Amino acid sequence: MPPAVERLRQAGLKATGPRVMLLSALEQDRRHPTAEQLYESLQAHHPSLSLSTVYQTLDTFIRKGLCRRVSDAGDRLRVDGTPQDHDHAVCRTCGSIFDIDRDIFPRPLPPAHLPNGLSVTGLRVEYDVICAACQSQEPTALPPSADPARRSTSFGQVRRKALPKMT
Ligand SMILES: [Zn+2]
Ligand SMILES: [Zn+2]
Repeated sequence: MPPAVERLRQAGLKATGPRVMLLSALEQDRRHPTAEQLYESLQAHHPSLSLSTVYQTLDTFIRKGLCRRVSDAGDRLRVDGTPQDHDHAVCRTCGSIFDIDRDIFPRPLPPAHLPNGLSVTGLRVEYDVICAACQSQEPTALPPSADPARRSTSFGQVRRKALPKMT
């Protein structure tokens, strides 16, 4: 990946101090951080940085395609610094987001069109997972239910086993 200064210029943006700082931080940050998390991690070394600058700068990055807004993160701004196309696995217990490489776990091909004149431009896959850290905190597996109507709840466990561990 080219340096942050170069990526900013390629996106048609002036390489200002806060932009370079934030883009570099995003490249290293694999947490899919919220604006607040980025602000907190930078504040110690850059006390002049304000939270509103972080918000504004991230907004600019999103519009210019330098980072992606993470959907399904409630009303908090959460961003993804990995510019390459990839999918997400989201831990349903703690909310951690893991990047899934599409070369290794390909997506189904989307149809070109959907009903009601919808033209398809892309497809995103989000895997529901329980991360390794949360699994190790689970006391024991749920007791097997004798009630057949509840069997479907074990689906999550089956799928969890089928997914490779992500660390
Ligand atoms: Zn988790
Ligand atoms: Zn991601």
